[in-house]
Amino acid sequence: MPRLVSRIVTLAFVASLAACSTVGTRGVKNTSKTFSAVVVDAGHGGKDSGAYRRYGPPEKMVTLDVAQRLERNLRESQIKTVMTRDSDVFIPLNDRVAMENAQKNAIFVSIHFNDSRKRKTRGFETYYHSSASFDLASRIQQKLMTIPNSANGGVHTANFRVLRLANCPAVLVECGYLSNRAEGNQARDWEYRELLADRIAEALVEQRYGSGVYRPSPQIAAQLRQQAEHASGGTSLAPGGSR
Ligand SMILES: [Zn+2]
Repeated sequence: MPRLVSRIVTLAFVASLAACSTVGTRGVKNTSKTFSAVVVDAGHGGKDSGAYRRYGPPEKMVTLDVAQRLERNLRESQIKTVMTRDSDVFIPLNDRVAMENAQKNAIFVSIHFNDSRKRKTRGFETYYHSSASFDLASRIQQKLMTIPNSANGGVHTANFRVLRLANCPAVLVECGYLSNRAEGNQARDWEYRELLADRIAEALVEQRYGSGVYRPSPQIAAQLRQQAEHASGGTSLAPGGSR
C-alpha cells in the first residue's frame, strides 16, 4: 500500500512537471531582438497601493513615476510604447495580460519595488518565466548593477501572472526594497528614479539594437559620473579633507 501511494505521488509529480513544461513553451514568440514596441507596466495602482511605508510614497506612486520616465526614454530612442496605466488607477492583472498580448511584436516590462520584513534586505531583482525572456531579464539586471553601491538580488524565474500568461518575452523588475532605509530613501528621490528608468531603457535599447546605440540624457551622464567618483572616492579622500 505505501508503495502504491508513493507510486501515485511520483506519477502525479511527473505529470505536473510535464504540464509545467508545456506552459513554459506555450506559444511564446521570441521577439526580444526584433520587437517594435514595449509594453510598460507600472505595478499596482488605485485601491492596490502595493508595498506601503509609513514615510514616503506607496509603491504604486513610485512604479508609475519610473514607468513614465522609462516610457519617455524609450520614445526618445524611437521605440514605440504602450502603458498599461498612466495614472493612479486599478488595473486587474488579467487586463494587463490582455494588453501585453494585444501587441503583435512587443516585449513586456513590469516595474515594481520590493518589500521585506527584514529591513536589511536590499538589492535589485529581475524575474522572468519563459526561456525567451531570460536574455532580457539578465541584461536589465546587469544594467541596474552599474548604479554605484547597488546590491545584486539576482535574476530569477517566477510564476507571476503577467509573466506566465505572456505570449511575448516578459520581465518584472523589482527596483529595490522600500523597506530598506537606503533604498527607500533613494526611491523617494526623482533623480534616482530617473536613473533607474535610464538603466532599464539602456538595457532594452541594447537588447534590440546592440550596444553603443543608447544615449543617456546629459543630466544622467553627469549624474552617473558624479556617483562613480563619489563611490571610488570614499574614505581615501578623508586625510586631505581633515587636518
Ligand atoms: Zn509590487
